[in-house]
Amino acid sequence: MTHPVQTALDRMGVSQPVSAVSIGNDWQPGLSGEHAVHSPIDGSKIADLKFATTAQVDEAAIAATEAFKAWRVIPGAVRGEFVRQFGEQLRTHKENLATLVSWEAGKITQESLGEVQEMIDICGFAVGLSRQLYGRTMASERPGHRLTEQWHPLGPVGVISAFNFPVAVWAWNAALAWVCGDPIIWKPSEKTPLTAIACQALVQNTLAELPEVPPAISCLVVGGADVGEQLAASPAVPLISATGSVPMGRAVAQTVAGRLGRSLLELGGNNGMIVTPSADFELAIRSITFSAVGTCGQRCTTLRRLIVHESIADKLRDRLLEVYTRLPIGDPTTDGTLMGPLIDERSAQAMDAALATAKDQGGIVHLGVRVTEGVPVGGSYVQAALVEIGHDAPILKQETFAPILYLIRYRDLEEAIAIHNNVPQGLASAILTSDVREAELFCSPAGSDCGIVNVNIGTSGAEIGGAFGGEKETGGGRESGSDAWKQYMRRATNTVNYSDHLPLAQGIQFNV
Ligand code: NAD
Repeated sequence: MTHPVQTALDRMGVSQPVSAVSIGNDWQPGLSGEHAVHSPIDGSKIADLKFATTAQVDEAAIAATEAFKAWRVIPGAVRGEFVRQFGEQLRTHKENLATLVSWEAGKITQESLGEVQEMIDICGFAVGLSRQLYGRTMASERPGHRLTEQWHPLGPVGVISAFNFPVAVWAWNAALAWVCGDPIIWKPSEKTPLTAIACQALVQNTLAELPEVPPAISCLVVGGADVGEQLAASPAVPLISATGSVPMGRAVAQTVAGRLGRSLLELGGNNGMIVTPSADFELAIRSITFSAVGTCGQRCTTLRRLIVHESIADKLRDRLLEVYTRLPIGDPTTDGTLMGPLIDERSAQAMDAALATAKDQGGIVHLGVRVTEGVPVGGSYVQAALVEIGHDAPILKQETFAPILYLIRYRDLEEAIAIHNNVPQGLASAILTSDVREAELFCSPAGSDCGIVNVNIGTSGAEIGGAFGGEKETGGGRESGSDAWKQYMRRATNTVNYSDHLPLAQGIQFNV
């Protein structure tokens, strides 16, 4: 029987063997060493390819710079039409792309479909935006003058993405950047190259319908950290949008700052939720479970710290353990599975190590063992872990990219908020409460210090309409909705004098 990965690639028109580099319509094999891609589901080899070299990154940057010259003067609405048609490709191939996401990233089918839907949604958002790249008109202090601002395309945007959202994060960037008039050079995670290659094939299908679009507005360079480093260092790329771990973001930020470029960073999270005595208990169980175990604890927004009022902590713990024990774990492509595998054995070892450290720091560890029965052989499957621990345990400051939920007890809400904010990261947060004062305090300047602040929903599962991102070590970037598009453009302030006088600003007299 043909492997589902093979079938999905065929259906999306991906020519094989796959190539690591694409500049618009052209595919080029990578010129670096051979790499095998393995599925986290069963460890099977799903592709062989050669990675891009740093010289190939430079070639992509040159092509994207050339494409930019034409793309920046094509009207926004026409750029929007390109994104609309790309969105149609995604609609047509939603299941095929989702199949690849499951096989490469290990997501359950529902979450993979959701990830592709997110791409479709951001395309829709970007199409509307393509006619709304508004600047302001300010009242000039001088007579006979008009003061306005315009938003202009910025230039090629480098996108470095993580394995856990292998396609949606690129689409958030690409859809906005394209309507803003910028080409994209994508360096996907080396763990998930096939999904990226498939997206580029769908872009090529779109390009075939629109000959006026310069093809090199979409470039792909699959490779390791060296490829990302080269992209970050390229002076031809004014904006680097990097999603991944804090150490990666720190390295990229320094490189980009060194050349005074712009970076948009979406880094690690360490997300907390406060559960107050007035919370709806059943809603709490559902939102906690989805946030903590979805994508096997491998979302940047995964719930990692549960800060529960001491009066309800035991009851909540017992109920969560009961739910955790019967969670269907296994092949993520099988109907009914709610937890698939970790991305690789290294992640499973990191989870084991974190649980051992938590125990050393006084934690009581529930569940969290390896799962070997009823799951495909060759993948790294684990039970979600619940760890009761004191609020001052050092491990609470660390993001372990696995399904570990720390349960911390609190007495009063101000203490809970202090515990909540006492981590270096600042991505997503939530409070579950039926008390409007508690909810508003959490959303206030004295509340959560995160970029995403939710009430009566979990920490994960954001909509594309809002600006997505976080504070502190999460990097401060905002992507997707609201006015995140402004980061992909440059602002020009225009002052036009339509009088025959030359009054100077601030009333300065300078008579010659
Ligand atoms: P990672 O940092 O290992 O890799 C991310 C990407 O960066 C990959 O493409 C990798 O090749 C590249 N890279 C690594 N080192 C680099 C360097 N020095 N220069 C340039 N590029 C480099 O992360 P991962 O394991 O793929 O993903 C998990 C992490 O990503 C978690 O910390 C998670 O919280 C974070 N994440 C954050 C968001 C967000 O929106 N805040 C979203 C998804 C994932």
